[in-house]
Amino acid sequence: MGAASGDEVWQGLISDIPIPGSVAARPASPQQVLAEIFGYGAFRGPQQEIVEHVVAGGSALVLMPTGGGKSLCYQIPALCRTGTAVVISPLIALMQDQVEGLRQAGVRAASLHSGCSSEETANTWRMLRAGQLDLVYLSPERLLARDTIERLAALSLALFAIDEAHCVSQWGHDFRPEYLQLSVLAQRFPAVPRIALTATADPRTRDEIRARLQLEQGRVFLASFDRPNIRYLLREKDDTRRQLLEFLEDHRGASGIVYARSRRRVDGFCRDLQAAGYDAVAYHAGLDGAVRSAALERFRRDSGVVVVATIAFGMGIDKPDVRFVAHVDLPKSLEAYYQETGRAGRDGLPALAWMVHGANDVPQLRRFIDDSDAEQQQKLVEHGKLNALIGFTEASCCRRQVLLRHLGEVMAKPCGNCDICLEPDTAVDATEPVRKALSAVFRTGSRFGAAHLVDVLLGADTARIREFGHQQLSVYGIGKELDRGQWRSLFRQLVSQGLLQADSERYAALGFGEDTRLKPLLRGDTQIVLRLPPVKRERLRQPGVRPISLELAPAAELVLLALKDWRREQARQQGVPPYVVFHDRTLVEVVGRRPRSLEELARIGGVGQSKLDRYGIALLAVLEAGFNLGIDERKPE
Ligand code: ADP
Ligand code: ZN
Repeated sequence: MGAASGDEVWQGLISDIPIPGSVAARPASPQQVLAEIFGYGAFRGPQQEIVEHVVAGGSALVLMPTGGGKSLCYQIPALCRTGTAVVISPLIALMQDQVEGLRQAGVRAASLHSGCSSEETANTWRMLRAGQLDLVYLSPERLLARDTIERLAALSLALFAIDEAHCVSQWGHDFRPEYLQLSVLAQRFPAVPRIALTATADPRTRDEIRARLQLEQGRVFLASFDRPNIRYLLREKDDTRRQLLEFLEDHRGASGIVYARSRRRVDGFCRDLQAAGYDAVAYHAGLDGAVRSAALERFRRDSGVVVVATIAFGMGIDKPDVRFVAHVDLPKSLEAYYQETGRAGRDGLPALAWMVHGANDVPQLRRFIDDSDAEQQQKLVEHGKLNALIGFTEASCCRRQVLLRHLGEVMAKPCGNCDICLEPDTAVDATEPVRKALSAVFRTGSRFGAAHLVDVLLGADTARIREFGHQQLSVYGIGKELDRGQWRSLFRQLVSQGLLQADSERYAALGFGEDTRLKPLLRGDTQIVLRLPPVKRERLRQPGVRPISLELAPAAELVLLALKDWRREQARQQGVPPYVVFHDRTLVEVVGRRPRSLEELARIGGVGQSKLDRYGIALLAVLEAGFNLGIDERKPE
């Protein structure tokens, strides 16, 4: 014990001596580091408080949504405190991105994991001993391997950061047994601050993290879990494939994720997208490991790739410019939905969470739960989770309010950025359409699902209609007052109200339910009011529901493309993802503000000193060339 503290004193003494080029030579304020290294003008949300707390030597648990800016919460203290910061991170791809990003910003960072050659490893340790690294990223396996702890103990350490800290929780969804052993950090390094970070807000997980990492004394920083830049758009399931293609049409060229429930569906949708000209790749656990990593790599490095995936595709996706997450099947739970959609828009730019859902999904999911081998208690929990999810899909008030309430947050006002807020349903007297729908069910012999019934009502000319001679029916083509989406919604509501019943054994064929209103309705003795969505054409005309654009004039849009081409080339030469060079957000700002000098460029978010030195002149040249070209093209008019 005495020897150890003697050691610390001694290390404290030498680490205070500024050696040129060593860690100790960088005394700086958090504000300075934020501006000069990372190129940002202001802290976001609780960042400043967290940074100051850790710089002062405090430990902390930080709960912040994806894209909230957790990394800076430990990266800035790492640069303000004496010694090297050790970051524990569960995924190699994540570490590599972080290290590459830091190096671009001029920070001395390295990683130690199973993917490093022995030469790289030896070199990293040499630099650590020489005090030449600001941050070192370690996999938990590497931290716990052989003599790593002892070797770390011989260094001057600024802090420990434990990223994705929910991996320590057995209750959570990403449990990693190695994380349990991280309690060794508190025991072995009681004087080094520990900061644990996660995007999982669940109170039970939170308590487990605190206990396991011995953070009971540390402060807890809980940021709002709202992701205001994500627009939630839910749609009634009609023809999923067609709906998905229609949705994607507005987002050609954007990076996105499409989640489907099964491997077969993933492969099917992926083929559909490829056939429609999308750069789509499939990702699921049934694929060969090499195929999977190639897909992941394509997604990370290129922009405009759409990954069609099962939930196997998830953790470690820290690509900032994912513009949409689409669900063609219901997720497992509302928590899972939040996590999955949270992968969109980490850069803070507008992003979409789009999902189709239908009444037919629910009985199937219920059966999955009932037929599983789980304990009765567990089944109840699963049913409860499903109910919360259905409550979300069927909400008639703001989606975001429902979602946040589920995460334990109260949002006072509707958000204005979800389908419910943007496309208010209208309650109408639906008696006549309902009678038409019921007769269509009856006249076709209660043997068909909603899709076919809607075709009949709209008078569509399909192979099935011809096959069954349904164009002869009195109900054929009598429903033109509603559009397809409205009819689908109407049928769904009739099912959820019990007026119709879906036969899950027979391809969801609709038949009459037990409801006592049925007879009076058919006789015309009673009325029914339903909320129907506005017709599609009006929906598209609403300004709020336009496809996401970055709000640039057409000429500027071209300049942005030129900058992105230039960025892709820079990234390719260095073998890093494009967003490591500059984020979309930075390029958009560059085009919008059109800086004419390096000083002006430096004022743009995301342009720190190192990037300014490295890319500034070239970037300004591409920018000017782009604008001049645009002007020349316009001259002849
Ligand atoms: P998280 O790890 O919480 O998901 P990140 O640390 O990756 O989030 O940060 C998300 C994005 O926000 C990154 O592009 C990051 O550069 C940016 N960012 C973080 N803090 C700030 C800030 N104070 N000002 C501007 N951008 C920021
Ligand atoms: Zn809303």
